[in-house]
Amino acid sequence: MSLTPIRTTCPYCGVGCGVVATSQEDGSIAIKGDEQHPANEGRLCSKGSALGETLSLDDRLLFPEVDGRRAGWDEALDLVARRFSETIAEHGPESVAFYGSGQLLTEDYYVANKLMKGFIGAANIDTNSRLCMASSVAGHIRAFGSDTVPGTYEDLEEADLVVLVGSNMTWCHPVLFQRVLAARERRGTRIVVIDPRRTVTAEAADLHLAIAPNSDVALFAGLLDHLDRMGLRDNAYVDSHTSGLDAALQAAGECGFPGALNATRLPAELLREFYTLWSRSERVVTAYSQGVNQSVAGTDKVNAIINCHLFTGRIGRLGMGPFSLTGQPNAMGGREVGGLANMLAVHLNINSASHRELVRSFWGSPRIAEKPGLKAVDLFRAVGEGRVKAIWIMGTNPADSLPDADAVQEALRRCPFVVVSDVTRTDTTRHAHVLLPAAAWAEKSGTVTNSERRISRQRSFLKPPGEARPDWRIVCDVAARMGFAEAFDYQSPAEIFREHAALSGLANDGRRDFDIGACAELSGNAYDALEPFQWPRRRGEALDAGTTRFFAAGGFYTPDRRGRFVPTLVAQQAVSPEFPLILNTGRIRDQWHTMTRTAKTPRLMSHYAESFCEIHPDDAEDGGVAPATLVRIVSPQGSAIVRALVTERQQKGSIFVPMHWTDQQTAQGRIGAATFAAVDPVSGQPGLKSSSVSIEPFDAAWYGFAVLRNRPETIRADYWALARAEGGWRIELAGTEPVEDWADFAATLIGSGENLETLSYSDQDQASFRLATFAGDALLGALFVAPQPVAVSRTWAVEHLSAPDIRGTERLRLLSGRPGTDQADPGPIVCACFSVGANQIAAAIENGAASVEAVGETLRAGTNCGSCRVEIRRLIDAAVLKKAV
Ligand code: SF4
Repeated sequence: MSLTPIRTTCPYCGVGCGVVATSQEDGSIAIKGDEQHPANEGRLCSKGSALGETLSLDDRLLFPEVDGRRAGWDEALDLVARRFSETIAEHGPESVAFYGSGQLLTEDYYVANKLMKGFIGAANIDTNSRLCMASSVAGHIRAFGSDTVPGTYEDLEEADLVVLVGSNMTWCHPVLFQRVLAARERRGTRIVVIDPRRTVTAEAADLHLAIAPNSDVALFAGLLDHLDRMGLRDNAYVDSHTSGLDAALQAAGECGFPGALNATRLPAELLREFYTLWSRSERVVTAYSQGVNQSVAGTDKVNAIINCHLFTGRIGRLGMGPFSLTGQPNAMGGREVGGLANMLAVHLNINSASHRELVRSFWGSPRIAEKPGLKAVDLFRAVGEGRVKAIWIMGTNPADSLPDADAVQEALRRCPFVVVSDVTRTDTTRHAHVLLPAAAWAEKSGTVTNSERRISRQRSFLKPPGEARPDWRIVCDVAARMGFAEAFDYQSPAEIFREHAALSGLANDGRRDFDIGACAELSGNAYDALEPFQWPRRRGEALDAGTTRFFAAGGFYTPDRRGRFVPTLVAQQAVSPEFPLILNTGRIRDQWHTMTRTAKTPRLMSHYAESFCEIHPDDAEDGGVAPATLVRIVSPQGSAIVRALVTERQQKGSIFVPMHWTDQQTAQGRIGAATFAAVDPVSGQPGLKSSSVSIEPFDAAWYGFAVLRNRPETIRADYWALARAEGGWRIELAGTEPVEDWADFAATLIGSGENLETLSYSDQDQASFRLATFAGDALLGALFVAPQPVAVSRTWAVEHLSAPDIRGTERLRLLSGRPGTDQADPGPIVCACFSVGANQIAAAIENGAASVEAVGETLRAGTNCGSCRVEIRRLIDAAVLKKAV
């Protein structure tokens, strides 16, 4: 019998979809979208749909560890409290730091921020949100006087024009993009994508502006100048509610159409078309994501966009406004509690003495941080330089995700005291003196806030395994041992939430945007039953009062209550002759951050099983890199080896590599090692989209591919990328030196023994080699080696791991690496929701499925989350083209 369904939220992106988790008789968990949640109304993307497959305890941290040995909680917590207290006593409060995560719940964040800023008395608490949307925060504060997202998701559905800047929304915010596409069907919304890459989102758009990297400021400065020349200034709005227009117009005028044309390198007619479209669409939403934020000019990019909306008064009304798409599930909640080094709490200003005193007296704390702390990149620099001597990393993996990641690893190696509280082992946990096992998504209770300011409950539906504990509990236990027991004597997340809500309403009276005072006295039962609601909800207001927007009638949170135009600086990135390519890193459809969760599911590993580099054919040729071979990406910081994916979707002069792979899944494939650590001067956000790099071919003497029943303990290859597959594992291999004895190599990888049967084949000079090992009738593993990238269908080979018996000619076919004519090869997986491969889709097209919908009807592909629909469209277009030729 199924247990009671639990309504919770997805732990991945900032869309913040509602999820219903139901325990099944067999112990598994069924996951479906929550039809009552306003963010998704029942929809889930491929990642959300696969959540039930990520709950295994593999690699879970189950017990505290001290210096690599199992320890009890008391010993570990005592040690953390003692070392932090001693370090503070000897070197001052700024010698310690916390580094958190947008994966933490608001309640976790609240107590961590309170401990650091109010009781330790420093502001050295920053989070991986610094890598995600710090530029949006800074841009909001410059323009609005507060970190306010003015609009809601409904605006994206009610707009006539949706402009997506630096956002591959199809893959990174899939459910929200499906809402935009549904709105286009209904009301003919025009979609414009501004992105140097021809992403799947760009392919789905009505207009794609493939601008030169980092030319967004010029694009929007040119737009502001155009709007001015067209007389589209909303005089009433600008005169009554804004300031600083003259300086912004002067800067925009200096750029103008010629400057925008020069910087973006767009055809003039395309630029004109965009400006005309934006000008003529009263209802326009300009939504932006990491392509804007992850830049050394990120804050200026944000303000260049906001300027255009302020100028036309297109803000805070139905279907219009600038809209920051948040990357992480609770980056917004972290911003609300002030969990960034330059914020205080509840959107109060750390630079204001009266705000600091308000918070200090509310907390009853002995001291309060007097100034902003170190932002992420500077914080780890300070660790490396010995200025920060004790650091506590919570629920994140900076050893891979921060730029110049090798330097971060080195800093952690040198740091006298490193604490990591996390769910699994990562490249960061290797450096921990104390490891604290934290409860994971399914085991935690609290709240999260999505990109449209909607607070939702995350509810636990599994007991924490081993001795794992919720993050808020761990922080409070350490705080108590540091002498602050009274201020951290919480018994539940509900208590913390109430305190957070009360603080938000304190001396507020509408003076600050963030106010959830209506929740200050929420009972435990009401907290448990809390429905998603949008802030602000001031004391006395009903939580279900409906949609809220900001600034339609001014009311900004600047001292004069006016929205500020910000003059923006148009600057172009200099190209270095030694490192002539611009490296852009980002997410792919089925992976999340450093893959601690998504790598657990074969379904999500089937779309891309190893990291890759999208590279323009001309750049590939110049660099001597052939398609499907391996390429080494080199920067002044370090290097990484990935597969070359040669495509015209990538602009010449730039390459794209996914951010996800780490040392856990690949050898030498961490792209973080090659990214650079320059930051935006206002927000401190690193420019992860534009590191300067060069490329060179990886000099492979041989390539290999294997399917394996068991995870190998030793991999004797210079390059490898290991991924879970249905029934076992798959691995890509390459080496720079010839291998003398392939049979011995295979035995190490696959396993050996007297009761195993092995078939093998090699050509005369041993350049090509194939081997399959069987335990009884079942396959234990198969290895394929060639001097060039191995041409064996991965999906077909993987299927053999699940086959109960493989005999006779079947074995020979496997060894040959080719399916027989009577066997279908599904091809590379396109639709992860229903595991449908490219060859299956091609066959359906061949049999008359001429549209994405028809393919969906035949195979179900593309009918769940929809994020593969553009790839299906590509296959249809390719088939049509082939027929025409
Ligand atoms: S769009 Fe996907 S990843 Fe994002 S919250 Fe929804 S289900 Fe989760």
